[in-house]
Amino acid sequence: MSDSEQFASDNYSGICPQAWAAMDEANRMDEPAYGEDIWTARAADGLRALFDTDCDVFFTFNGTAANSLALASIGQSFHSVICHELAHIETDECGGPEYASNGSKLLPGEGRDGKLTPDSIEHLVTKRTDIHYPKPKAVSITQATEVGTVYTPDEIRAIRAVADKHKLNIHMDGARFANAVAALGVHPAEVTWKAGVDVLCFSGTKNGLAVGEAVVFFNRALAEDFEWRCKQAGQLASKMRFISAPWCGLMEDETWLGNARHANACADRLARGLLDIEGVSLRYPRQANGVFVELPQPVQDGLRANGWRFYNFIGGCSRLVCSWSTTEAQVDRFLADVRGLVE
Ligand SMILES: *Cc1c(COP(=O)(O)O)cnc(C)c1O
Repeated sequence: MSDSEQFASDNYSGICPQAWAAMDEANRMDEPAYGEDIWTARAADGLRALFDTDCDVFFTFNGTAANSLALASIGQSFHSVICHELAHIETDECGGPEYASNGSKLLPGEGRDGKLTPDSIEHLVTKRTDIHYPKPKAVSITQATEVGTVYTPDEIRAIRAVADKHKLNIHMDGARFANAVAALGVHPAEVTWKAGVDVLCFSGTKNGLAVGEAVVFFNRALAEDFEWRCKQAGQLASKMRFISAPWCGLMEDETWLGNARHANACADRLARGLLDIEGVSLRYPRQANGVFVELPQPVQDGLRANGWRFYNFIGGCSRLVCSWSTTEAQVDRFLADVRGLVE
């Protein structure tokens, strides 16, 4: 069994062919450094066209940096950011957002299926308004969420309504933004600026790049001096074109969306197959490219002994993630192995 027998994460996958081809093309020339090249201009223009609005676009190496720097640009060190208790920024970024902002505190909120609710936000903003409490300034939502669910445009607009009431900016962690857009079947604008999102961290890595996230400011006032923030944080790539050119590859012929649709379809096949097996249930509804499944311990052990790699976290269930490179045959091999172990 090869190393590719995995549902561990979408960042275990390689670089998709379109991104690779664009990188190869960018490699056939010399170009100015630090983002002054034609590829970076083209990628930023491509994202403006994609979102159908005049937004400010920056590129960082990874998602932790994108989220941390975007959140730092939203408030001061004495401000706080409301996020879901399962949010990556809260649980998996090693205090990066607090560090980048010189101390802004994250306030964990609640909601079913990994989705922060307007009520929870309202509660966190209003429970204290005195000077001893870090003043809420932003809401961060993850699309698709850490448990593979998606916020609908209506749900985002409802969060915007509370945000407006309390003068909060909205940050979206879009590590799996493409999968959410594919799942919802909406225009990317409908779940971002049209629904009131101020800044989006759009992941290229999990969609099929080697490296690189786009920080997209729809609220352009928040982007003031952001390039200096990136540079100071060590996030300004010298040979920027090798981050931006692959983005051009992703945007050509809607490759980003095709990759996400494929990953979601594989996850759907996987979820349906698992639900057909006696004694197997899903912890969260399958909406994007992740499947969160309760498997008996001996079945998990057997799968791992057969060479399958996947993670167990968030309440102990098994997380299975599909990507652009997952194949239907791979899904079917996994399902056959589960069936064999259950019997
Ligand atoms: C993967 C991921 C990120 C980014 O992680 P990096 O390893 O820093 O690139 C951010 N948010 C979520 C929800 C993720 O799954």
